[in-house]
Amino acid sequence: MLDIKITKTTAPKEKPKGNLGFGRIFTDHMFVMDYTQGVGWHDPRIVPYQDLTLSPAAMVFHYGQEMFEGLKAYKGDDGANYLFRPDMNAKRTNDTNDRLCIPRVPEEDYVQAVKAIVSVDQDWIPTAPGTSLYIRPFIIATEPFLGVDVSQTFQFIIILSPSGAYYESGLEPVGIWIEDDYVRAVRGGMGFAKTGGNYAASLAAQVKAHDDGYSQVLWLDGVERKYIEEVGAMNIFFKIDGKVVTPMLNGSILPGITRNSVLQLCRDWGLPTEERKISVEELIQAQKEGKLEEVFGTGTAAVISPVGKLRYKDDVMVIGNGEIGPLSQKLYDTVTGIQLGRLEDKFGWRVR
Ligand code: PMP
Repeated sequence: MLDIKITKTTAPKEKPKGNLGFGRIFTDHMFVMDYTQGVGWHDPRIVPYQDLTLSPAAMVFHYGQEMFEGLKAYKGDDGANYLFRPDMNAKRTNDTNDRLCIPRVPEEDYVQAVKAIVSVDQDWIPTAPGTSLYIRPFIIATEPFLGVDVSQTFQFIIILSPSGAYYESGLEPVGIWIEDDYVRAVRGGMGFAKTGGNYAASLAAQVKAHDDGYSQVLWLDGVERKYIEEVGAMNIFFKIDGKVVTPMLNGSILPGITRNSVLQLCRDWGLPTEERKISVEELIQAQKEGKLEEVFGTGTAAVISPVGKLRYKDDVMVIGNGEIGPLSQKLYDTVTGIQLGRLEDKFGWRVR
């Protein structure tokens, strides 16, 4: 149990009106906790949202020893505030931390900190349909030292950002660019970890895809550039000949919490599911034979993002006439229904 000291702001900000967009508005408070080698995590506190003061030599700026997470708080239909599977974010944080030599945060402390900061700023949880309070926990190496080494000090911070509806009016299929030149991650690297370097590595391909009118990049494996991995900020699913297929977790893919939830739901519904290698060639072949029924991405931001178009080299595959598939729609309705308390939470995913 953390003993969190709370200092409230004396100058609360005005709540935003109109379209919230994503990631540019921040609430009144933030959670901060320090780590010192030999002492452990200490001084958990909630303070007014403020800029950080760090040495320009702080190790995070030079060698990227940092991690982050992303989850959301929702205003349920019953007026209560809910999180979705925050224990999974805590677990993934520690998997990332292990890879980056960042000290672990006890799972129960992590969830307690998330609940505490959301509770202090609960008036910032937006209520319009599809809106939510985005929660961004992150840890940075703060020791001022230019040697390439493990930092002796860290800060764990949680900030909150009210965010608008991902879909203004129903699911919208997106166009995805299958990247055949750049790669994101390799096995043995840090693809499974949620750390800034993976996203820095993704930008050049993302710019290229955007310039061509595609909204996200689909990465191939880093060795043969043959097998499907994941999208920029989503895992990817295919419905091929009645089966739900997604790339297996191989070390270079982020283990998405939405991915895990979708697999559990599909199995619960009795659909055949497969976690395995999927080559681009297999997709092209399935498409030719009319067996590629649906393609969709899964992630915290959009929950389900139907893919209407896939580009690979000079070929463009149009999936399901560019329309929303029934499985994509059902998964979206079910996951969001559970998140908002509209549907029975048979797996115990919703946390008050
Ligand atoms: N892959 C990557 C690279 C991501 O950044 C995300 C977003 N966290 C996901 C997949 C989806 O993960 P989740 O369902 O936990 O949001």
